[in-house]
Amino acid sequence: MQAPSSFDAVVVGAGVAGLFCATALADAGLSVAVLEARGSPGGRARSWMDANTGTEVDIGPHVVSTEHRQFLRMLERLGTREHIAWQDEPLIELLDAKQHLAVANVDWMPPLHGLPNLPVALRRLGIADALSHVRVAWQALRANVRRQRALDTQDALHWLRSLGVSERAIAWFWRSAMLAVLNVPLEQCSAAAAMRIFRLMLGRSGYHFGFPAVGLSQLYVPACTKAIRSRRGEVFTGALVHSVQVRGDAVRAVRLRDGRCLAAPVCVVALPPWHAGPLLARSAEPALAPLQQAARAFVGAPYVSTMLWFDRPVGAPRFWARVWNPQDLNTDFYDLARIRSRAPSPASLIACNAIGPNARFAWTDAQVVARTREELVEAAPAAATGRLLHARVHRIRAAIPQPRPGTETLRPGVRTPVRGLFLASDWCDTGVPCSMESAARAAALAAGGIVGATLALPPPETYGFAGLLRERN
Ligand SMILES: Cc1cc2nc3c(=O)[nH]c(=O)nc-3n(C[C@H](O)[C@H](O)[C@H](O)COP(=O)(O)OP(=O)(O)OC[C@H]3O[C@@H](n4cnc5c(N)ncnc54)[C@H](O)[C@@H]3O)c2cc1C
Repeated sequence: MQAPSSFDAVVVGAGVAGLFCATALADAGLSVAVLEARGSPGGRARSWMDANTGTEVDIGPHVVSTEHRQFLRMLERLGTREHIAWQDEPLIELLDAKQHLAVANVDWMPPLHGLPNLPVALRRLGIADALSHVRVAWQALRANVRRQRALDTQDALHWLRSLGVSERAIAWFWRSAMLAVLNVPLEQCSAAAAMRIFRLMLGRSGYHFGFPAVGLSQLYVPACTKAIRSRRGEVFTGALVHSVQVRGDAVRAVRLRDGRCLAAPVCVVALPPWHAGPLLARSAEPALAPLQQAARAFVGAPYVSTMLWFDRPVGAPRFWARVWNPQDLNTDFYDLARIRSRAPSPASLIACNAIGPNARFAWTDAQVVARTREELVEAAPAAATGRLLHARVHRIRAAIPQPRPGTETLRPGVRTPVRGLFLASDWCDTGVPCSMESAARAAALAAGGIVGATLALPPPETYGFAGLLRERN
């Protein structure tokens, strides 16, 4: 580690938020030290080389959308945006009761873009189920951010029932969508978080999904590191930060677990709540107590992510999702052999995620692989006879902070009461759900606050007829 005073800023954590923030600070001319506890950067969006197959494996498959606007802007800056493989059609393929349903990507004026997909929904729901959405749709079209936040005290299941949404529609649409997007069952989900997703779904159109065509880390870790080094900064790995030191009302230094201290005229804590909370608590600064308390309210969604290597094409779509079923293991599936730009050597490389209550941590790898294969066969029958060459199962205890009731209001801003001390991570109050986009927005907000510039894009808002219906503040 270099001499204490040689950096303009210190960033704790080298995930998306920490590296994006450090890159933005370097672009503004600051030398930045990034301190990362693990042996390699990337955090919850990292990848590494699998020794058995020579494939770069991700911690778990990640998807982006055209709504990841801040994230994509940074990839543009890093010169890696071309490594996103976009899917124009269909928006998503659903597997429901062994049948494929293609949801089209429609860019009509919102909310009219929902109409072409109504027949798809009506293959599974009755007219009465569709009509049971009238009140929630009206509330979503009228809601602005203030009204949305006011719902944070309720859980989403109670909210939907109170507005008359039918049980069948709740099971078929709402449980599937909210588990996939918000990583939490409806009864534990903040109605405010559910409302945000629904009103943006109704009020924006033309969005589609994309997938990293390279290992996740390759999207940003090398290019961010290069940008940081170009301004005499460095990314230090194996550097576990114990606490931040505050004197008067300003941050002074960070202390590592091995006892070393690094002077920090400006410090960004780019950590998830379950790491930021204890670190700030060890700082023993009374002004930070409300932040530590807020951090304690966040629970991470567990994930089990599985990868299966097959010796032949199994005929799977590039990307599909299973409609919610409590007996299921996995939610979203990808054939990386059809996504990655340098196709891995096997003919099919299937990756998938089991989320929240469906992520069975007690199961052995063999059980997870067997069930995953059964679910895969329903979408791609050739997987029954293809030879399984290799499998990996990743268990992630806390993948993404869940938006439980009350937490939307507790999401902190990037500024803290301590001068020079900032936060930047997916759980910050960014106007979007916890994700790589939220991490990127938090990074831009923190870097902008430090250098005194507007670096963050405005949060997404409804437009078209939907925008006209929205209540003004
Ligand atoms: C399996 C999985 C699937 C996901 N799918 C998607 C998806 O499809 N789309 C999407 O947008 N998002 C997805 N996410 C979420 C996304 O990965 C995260 O929101 C994002 O990466 C968070 O970045 P971050 O920088 O805020 O935090 P992190 O990535 O957690 O970075 C924090 C870093 O700080 C380090 N650290 C912790 N404590 C200390 C300490 N005391 N000192 C020093 N360093 C420390 C950690 O090791 C870590 O590297 C997924 C996440 C997982 C795990």
